[in-house]
Order: sequence, then structure tokens, then C-alpha cells
Amino acid sequence: MIKRLVPEKAKNLLLYSEVTKDYPFLIEYLKNCAQFNDDQNMEFYSMHKNFFDNILTSVIEQAKSEWETKKLNSIKIYERKDRKICQICNYTPLINVCTIENRLNKNCLEVGLDCVEEYRILGYENNDNILKSQKKVLRQSLLNESIPGIGKELRTWNHLINNEDQMVLKRSLIENYCLLKEQADAYYYRFLKPSVSNKEAKELILKLKDILVKKETEVQKINDYVEKRRDNPLFPSQRIFSSIDTQGKEWLLEEGSITPKTLFRINNNECIRKIFKSKESFFKRHYVELIGASYDNGVEVKLYSNKNINLNCDYRQFCYKFGKSMFEEKSLLGKDFEDQIIEIGTISDQEEDETAIWRMSEILHREYRYKIASIFYDFNDVYIVDHNLYSPDIPDQDLNEIKAYYQVKRNEISEIAKKILFEKLTINGAFSEIKSKLKNPMSKADYNYLIGERQKQKY
Ligand SMILES: [Zn+2]
Repeated sequence: MIKRLVPEKAKNLLLYSEVTKDYPFLIEYLKNCAQFNDDQNMEFYSMHKNFFDNILTSVIEQAKSEWETKKLNSIKIYERKDRKICQICNYTPLINVCTIENRLNKNCLEVGLDCVEEYRILGYENNDNILKSQKKVLRQSLLNESIPGIGKELRTWNHLINNEDQMVLKRSLIENYCLLKEQADAYYYRFLKPSVSNKEAKELILKLKDILVKKETEVQKINDYVEKRRDNPLFPSQRIFSSIDTQGKEWLLEEGSITPKTLFRINNNECIRKIFKSKESFFKRHYVELIGASYDNGVEVKLYSNKNINLNCDYRQFCYKFGKSMFEEKSLLGKDFEDQIIEIGTISDQEEDETAIWRMSEILHREYRYKIASIFYDFNDVYIVDHNLYSPDIPDQDLNEIKAYYQVKRNEISEIAKKILFEKLTINGAFSEIKSKLKNPMSKADYNYLIGERQKQKY
């Protein structure tokens, strides 16, 4: 089934329009297509493909513009039994029949109101609308004489509270401002109604003027509020506001500023950096140096007790644990803060991380004859060898077969090395933690093969 070349509804309209006369083959088609089968349709389409693909739409638009409804008595009401048919879409029975006339050739068609509407033919209703909107414009200009710029005032009312660069304003602050806008709108649209009496119109003007005075007070209140908090990172812009989750937005509108309830929901790095910077005294009080804070890279710190190592904490986790304390001026978490930072923080630098592991290896070897054989940071692999198994009386040719090597996850070993480094774990404790992770020993031959593969993958 090929597509209809001309929409069913446009056929009669085209047939009686002037524009169609420029396309005799189209008239021929319109007159005969009712009897066409698919093959004939297809054949006709192939002959005039360019026309149907590219021109027909413009011809239909042009045809539409030729028609208008007759100015007077354009709608006649019929009974269902009259079986009136719409000469555009063939709908029947029509009750309301509108006669449309071609401006150019004076052809007339009797059609239903739906088609009048669909083809945007100037009809009874449209004429009415034009008159109505003409009256409305007149009312607007009348009001504008009493209150110059009132229309624009209402249209731009919310710019003060709704724009990306504006601070998030707490709900209670803008409540009155928004209420005034609602009242002003109501009075304004009431005024535009032609049915409003002169007396009421005067009252409406007074009410609107009164609202505008009240508005100024509210504007002043909002501007003062903003001015006082302009450089405070706890009062973010609406751009930042729009990037946080729904619950966070709810809290912010309620509280007006970022609090422990919303801190972990913020994901704007610049905003986070400023907030943490403003809380530097909190870190100092706890003998911690703040290196940096962002959503993407977490909270990076140094402990005064070990300034060689940077520890990195997940942003959200940090905020969950310490957000509340950060916002309390006098909070003192004491030793607990340091302990928890060591607990949740990871050594942020690869070199520092490996150094910590190698240092642990030296102690392990000295005390227990276990040592780290190699670290593959990118693969999160550490290999540990148990030297106790290589006793001097084993013949050389058997050495390669002794199963003394273990593969362990690098981050788990880092955790243990970190705790030794910060003296949160004795070497004895570290050793038993490590031993619990040693499973599936392998021979030196297998180990050599494995690290050979790792090195190949690395380069
Ligand atoms: Zn119709």
C-alpha cells in the first residue's frame, strides 16, 4: 500500500482552489484518483515524484490561504436528517455548516467547523478573537496610562528571585514577595476584562499601586539579605542549587544555607572548596592540615603527627562523619578525629603508598622473615614471599618448586602499612592481619611467570 499522494482532506480544497490550475496533472489526478489502484498511484507518483516530494505542501498552504468564511450568516444550523456533508472531509451529518468562499475564484464550499479550524480559515470564532484581543490591547493601554510599565513589571517580577546568579533564597524570605505577585496578577487580568465597570477599574488601579509600594519593601528586604551574605559560601547560587538532589533542595529552601544536612549533597567542586576553606579553623583545632576538598577528589589532609603523608577521604563519607562537628564552632573531637581520619583515609600518592609498603616489608622481614616481593600498583597486586621456607639445606634444584609466594590485593596491604605508619597497629598485629590474607601459595616458577605477564601488560 503506497502512501496517499494527497491527504484526503486537502483534495476538494485543492480542486476548487486557483493555485491548482498551475498544475494540470494535479487536477487530473484529483479528479481520477478515487478509482486508482496502488499500481496506478505508484506510476503517477514516479512521474511526478519531485512535485509530490517537494512542492505539494506549499501548494496546499497556498490553497488554504485563498479561502475565507463568508462574512455574514456564515454558519447555518441544520437537522441531522438533512445529512449535510462537509465538502472538505466528507463528514456527515453536519449540524453547523459554514460556507467558505475562495477569495480569488469565488468558489464556495459547505464545510464543518472542524475543517474551518483545521485549515485556519478565518472564521466566525477567529473574527471574534481578533476583536476580543483588540479590546484587550485597548484595556492594557488604559491601565498603562495610570501605572506606566505595569505589564513589564509583572512579567519581570520573578527575575529577582529566579535567576541562576541569584543566591538561593529561603522560602520564608520570599513568601510575601510571591504572594504580592499573585495578587497583582489577579487584579491585572481582572482589569483587562471589558465587563469591568469604571468604578471597579479605579479600585483595581489603587490596589495595584498599593501592591507596588509593598513590593518595594520586599525587594529591599531581599536585597539586604543577599548583600549581607554575598561572599559567604554557605549561601550558594541557584546554579549550584539546581545541581543537587530533591531532598537537598528542600532542606536548602527551608534553611536558606548549607548545613550538615545538605553539605554532603553538594557536588560543585568550587563551592566545596570555599566551604572547607572557611572551616579551616576546625581542622587546625584538631591538629590537621587541610590540603584540599572537592567532590571529585575527596578531602585531602595531613596530620600534624605525621606531616610526610597526605591522606585522602571520600567526600561524602567525610561529610557524614564530621559535617556536624565542622559546623559547630566549639566542637572538639580530640584524638578521635585523627583516628577516624586514619581509618577512612587512604594514602593519596602512589609513591608514598609504595614507600609505606616497602617500609613495612623491611620490618616484616627482620621480625618474621616474610617480605614483599613486588608491587603492581595499577593491577592492585602485591606479592609476598615467605623466606622461612627456604632453609639452607634444600638442594638448589628444588628451590623453584617450594610454594612460598602469595598474591594479595594491594589496597588491603596498603591499609595495614598505613596503620603501622601512623602507629595504629603493632608489627605483631600487622603480621597476623597479613597472614590471614595469605592463601593459595605458589612456587617461585609460577610467581616468575605471573610477574612476567604483568610486566608485559604494563608496557
Ligand atoms: Zn470537514
